[in-house]
Amino acid sequence: MVGKTRIKKNLKLLVLEGDGIGPEICREALKILNVIDRKYGLNLDIIIEDVGLKSLEAVGSTLPERVLELAKKVDGVVMGPMSTNVYPSKNNGGINPSGTIRNKLDLFANVRPAKSYFGLSGSFPKTIDLVIVRENTEGFYSDRSMYVGSGEFMPTDDLALSVRKITRSASMRIAKIAFELAQTRSKRVTAVHKSNVFRLSDGLFLESVREVKKNYPNIDYSEQLVDAMAARLVRDPENFDVIVTTNMFGDILSDEASEIAGGLGLASSINYGDQYAMAQAQHGSAPGIAGKNIANPTALIGSIALLFSWLAVKRNDPTLDNAALEIQNALSTIISNVEARTRDLGGNNSTSGFGCGVAAYLEEQSKIVKF
Ligand code: NAD
Repeated sequence: MVGKTRIKKNLKLLVLEGDGIGPEICREALKILNVIDRKYGLNLDIIIEDVGLKSLEAVGSTLPERVLELAKKVDGVVMGPMSTNVYPSKNNGGINPSGTIRNKLDLFANVRPAKSYFGLSGSFPKTIDLVIVRENTEGFYSDRSMYVGSGEFMPTDDLALSVRKITRSASMRIAKIAFELAQTRSKRVTAVHKSNVFRLSDGLFLESVREVKKNYPNIDYSEQLVDAMAARLVRDPENFDVIVTTNMFGDILSDEASEIAGGLGLASSINYGDQYAMAQAQHGSAPGIAGKNIANPTALIGSIALLFSWLAVKRNDPTLDNAALEIQNALSTIISNVEARTRDLGGNNSTSGFGCGVAAYLEEQSKIVKF
């Protein structure tokens, strides 16, 4: 469907609802955007487009070229989760929208915070407050790491190979993001790797991070093997602040970290590069709970807060940072009330009930409280 919905002007956002629980959580995210738009006079222009299975059925592609081009013309993209596991091959229209947009818009940084919510202990007793900075364009991601062709191939029908790509330039630019971020937090960076096995590729990654570290003498820097890191996230998550790592390690560790923080339903993230940004929950399309109005929209709403923070810096507009803080504060406040929580957090609230609660809280609050 072309330009299905259009609401107002100025700051232009493209919302891609995706598959499974995508449309349900996007609906709640739109409620929040509408309140923020009114409160802050943002004059938002929100364009909603279909990608994923709906678009495959309508136009034969999970990511029509037109939508990809549109993503380059807006101020930010909000992407719902995709059921990429069930997509057909690329030749039959099954393009991974998330991977392709990250690659084509050069969204090389995937920043994934994991922070315990006040009053939500979940099944995990320790508190966590860290950010995983994940390289987003290479590594083992075979569908997007090559200029032409795929990084995964089968020379014979009983031999499958995957090529892992690590470059100095991508490693250095992701390291810079991590060190810069650490300057705004508690000034600690841990580089996570497996250089005892991937001597060349993770060796190059570490060499690049160490090179960047020279520009940040005030940052406390350490290195950790990825397997030990997985254990330490459980044992002593409080000892970590900013973790910088390659693509797949970052993907896996961030799910672990978000589970420690309370669950995947809380796991926000932002993908960005020098020019573009995309808000995207860490979780997938959760097909098992899709259409039941029980999914937790927190991760996607929190990702929009991260997008506003990114836009605040890009546009040099502190108002957008205030909007981000206010959204995050509303989420924290609502989640602190057991009754208001969705089922994944032990409550009984619906997706729409939770979204209405956050929207109503935002409507009522005139004061901005720092999260
Ligand atoms: P998933 O993240 O969809 O689900 C894992 C578990 O977390 C499930 O129990 C699910 O019910 C729960 N969960 C996830 N999000 C939730 C939410 N917001 N509220 C409440 N519970 C939530 O992972 P999966 O089952 O491995 O993958 C399902 C599909 O998503 C697959 O097709 C996979 O390829 C795709 N996927 C897409 C993305 C993306 O679009 N960025 C990321 C990961 C997986």
